[in-house]
Amino acid sequence: MKGAAVFPGDRTLRLVSDVPEPKIARPTEVKLRILQVGICATDREIAGFVFGTPPPGFPYLVLGHEGFAEVVETGPEVDGLKPGDLVVPTVRRPCDDPACIACRHDRPDFCLTGLYREHGILGMHGFMTEFVVDEARYMRRVPPAIRDAAVLVEPLTIAEKAFIQAEQIQMRLPWNRGAGHAVVLGAGPVGLLGAMALRLRGCDVTVYSREREADPRAGITRAIGAKYVCSLERTPEQMAAAIGNIDLIYEATGSATLAFSILSVLGRNGVLILTGVPGAHGPEAIDAGALITNMTLKNQCLLATVNAGNDAFDRAIADLTEFSSRWPEAVRGLITGRFTLEHFETPIRSTAGIKNIIEMAS
Ligand code: BGC
Repeated sequence: MKGAAVFPGDRTLRLVSDVPEPKIARPTEVKLRILQVGICATDREIAGFVFGTPPPGFPYLVLGHEGFAEVVETGPEVDGLKPGDLVVPTVRRPCDDPACIACRHDRPDFCLTGLYREHGILGMHGFMTEFVVDEARYMRRVPPAIRDAAVLVEPLTIAEKAFIQAEQIQMRLPWNRGAGHAVVLGAGPVGLLGAMALRLRGCDVTVYSREREADPRAGITRAIGAKYVCSLERTPEQMAAAIGNIDLIYEATGSATLAFSILSVLGRNGVLILTGVPGAHGPEAIDAGALITNMTLKNQCLLATVNAGNDAFDRAIADLTEFSSRWPEAVRGLITGRFTLEHFETPIRSTAGIKNIIEMAS
């Protein structure tokens, strides 16, 4: 079968036509027909050979971790899933270390050994292929009502995992906190989906990003009842002056410089959430003493988060269902490019649009 693959050995990107078609080997597995796969910055980095590890014995890694699929076959011991069901598979699989308490609790997103595997990223083929076989327990069922949007579930899980933790952290404040003021940095898919999740919870949301006011990203922001501020026109201080105490900042740009400088506008008892993976870009001057003094005197919390567990996937599916009924146009506007598998390289090589997807089957 066909698959979009990266060959780290000779640093090429190719459509492979002889990926072995997987068969159900264990009674608890399901076979999926992949319907759509989203592309994100991680795929671009893998295609740029920054990281990405093929499964053992393969010279290539099939790309894709933002999957949406239909169940076509189930093993005899699979409960709760049947052919025809729509699912989003989670990305990360547990390590084998019996002492890894996180993986043994089915939370590989908090894996302690670092020996986890990730579909389409680390040691396992991804979803940019025709069929995938995997354990049924890694599938999250999607209602047919959000068939058109379900490929956005995985990028939304990044925000959901972050907000689940932020809610737990803010339980430290023993009073009714209300929804509060939130700032989202970056109007890419992870940022805009995060902004939607915050609006759903009643937050006053400002999206701060470099696109101009006329950009569709600013339009989507306004359509969900959030404010848009262009970072080329306003400094973080000017943006913050119009808000009041900023309770939460959700960083979705991957800019290390912005992540640190934004701390100066985070409010008292506030949480800064980091989701970007900027990589090493050489030293940068920061006044660490001033930064820590400010954080301490304001009871601030810095939370960095990666990947997501079943709870975040389930909350993402429920939220996306709600977004689609509240803001159908805004949700539709997030998917700006649709490509066939044969043309997978085009969206991987370009950053144009908001979310580009590969249409694998209908
Ligand atoms: C994915 C995560 C993954 C991370 C690091 C992100 O793009 O959404 O699931 O854990 O990359 O590999």
